Amino acid sequence: MSEALNNVRNSVKYAESVLDLIGNTPLVKLNSVTAGIRATVLAKIEFTNPGGSIKDRIAASLVAEAERSGKLQPGGTIVEPTSGNTGVGLAMVAAIRGYSSVFVAPDKVGQSKRDVLKAYGAEVVVTATNVAPDSPESYYGVSDRITSETPGAYKPNQFANQAGPAAHYDSTGPEIWHDTDGKVTHVVIGAGTGGTITGTGRYLHDVSEGRVKVIAADPAGSIYADHSAKLHGYYVEGVGEDMIPDTYDPSVPDGFVTVDDAASFEMTRRLAVEEGLLVGGSSGMAVVAALETAKDLDEDGVVVVVLPDSGRGYIDKIFNDQWMAEHGFTTSTTGDEDATAEA
Ligand code: PMP
Repeated sequence: MSEALNNVRNSVKYAESVLDLIGNTPLVKLNSVTAGIRATVLAKIEFTNPGGSIKDRIAASLVAEAERSGKLQPGGTIVEPTSGNTGVGLAMVAAIRGYSSVFVAPDKVGQSKRDVLKAYGAEVVVTATNVAPDSPESYYGVSDRITSETPGAYKPNQFANQAGPAAHYDSTGPEIWHDTDGKVTHVVIGAGTGGTITGTGRYLHDVSEGRVKVIAADPAGSIYADHSAKLHGYYVEGVGEDMIPDTYDPSVPDGFVTVDDAASFEMTRRLAVEEGLLVGGSSGMAVVAALETAKDLDEDGVVVVVLPDSGRGYIDKIFNDQWMAEHGFTTSTTGDEDATAEA
C-alpha cells in the first residue's frame, strides 16, 4: 500500500465492529428534577450502548470469557433464559461473532420484545408462565433441556456468571471514576442480577479506599433492601429479586433506598418531559433513590446514578396513560414539584 493511501486510512475514524461501541457511556447533569438539591447529580446514560442497554457490557464479556475458556467454539449456540436486555446484548454479540442464539422466554413477554431478538437473527422459544420455576416446563427448565440437546450449546447464565460483575469492575466503575476526575462521592444503582452494583461498587470502593458510598435502589417487594420484608410483585422491570443470585455481593452496598412503582414511574415520565431523557422504569427508580441520597448533601456531593436502558421499550406501558390507569397509577407529567402519584 502506498504511504499516501495508508495515511488516508489512518485518518479515517471508525470502530472495528459494533462491539467496540459498547461502554464509554456519557454522564449528563440532571437540572430540573433536582430542584432544591445542592449536590451535583449526574446520570450515566446506558441507552447509548449499541444494543440499547447496560447489558451489552456483560453480553460482550460473557461471550469473550466463554471463547477464552473454550466453552464456546466457532459455530456454537448461545442459549439463555431471558427476553430482556441481556437477550438483546447476547443476540447482538452472537450476530457479530457468528454464533446461533436461542432465547427462552415465558409467554407473558410481549411480542415486540420477542421480535427484537428475532430481528438480530435469534430463535425465541416461548414457554408457559404459570409453571413452578423448578418444573422442566419452566423457562429455566426448557433452556437447560435445549442446552443439553444442542451440540455446541453454551448457556452463559447471567445470574451466576462472575464475568458479569467483572465487566462492570473493568468498565462501568473506571468510567465513572475517570469522568468525575475522582470527585464522585456516591453512586446509586438498581440491582437485578446485582452485577452492575457489585462490579461498579467494588471498583469505586477499591479506587477511593472506601470513600465513595454505594447505594442500592430496590423496588418495594424485592429481597435486596430487606431480607425479611414481605416479598410481593411489582411492575418495574429488570430490577429486584425474590432470591439472592451469585452475581450479587451483599457486602458491596453501603445503603439501600426502597422505591415503589408509582414513584418510579412518575419519575420515569418526568425524566422524559423535564430532562429530555426517554429512559426505562428502572432508571426512574434509580433517580428517585439518587435524589433521596442527594437531598442531605452539600455542594461537594457528586452523585452518579446509572440509567440502564431506553424508554422505547416501555412506550406501551409506563408512557401509555391507559396502561398506567389500568394498573392504578396516576399520570401527572406536568413537572409540578408537588405532584405525587399513588398506586
Ligand atoms: N435495569 C434494567 C432495565 C435491566 O434490564 C437490568 C438487568 N436485569 C438492570 C436494571 C439491573 O442490572 P443488573 O442485572 O446488573 O443488576
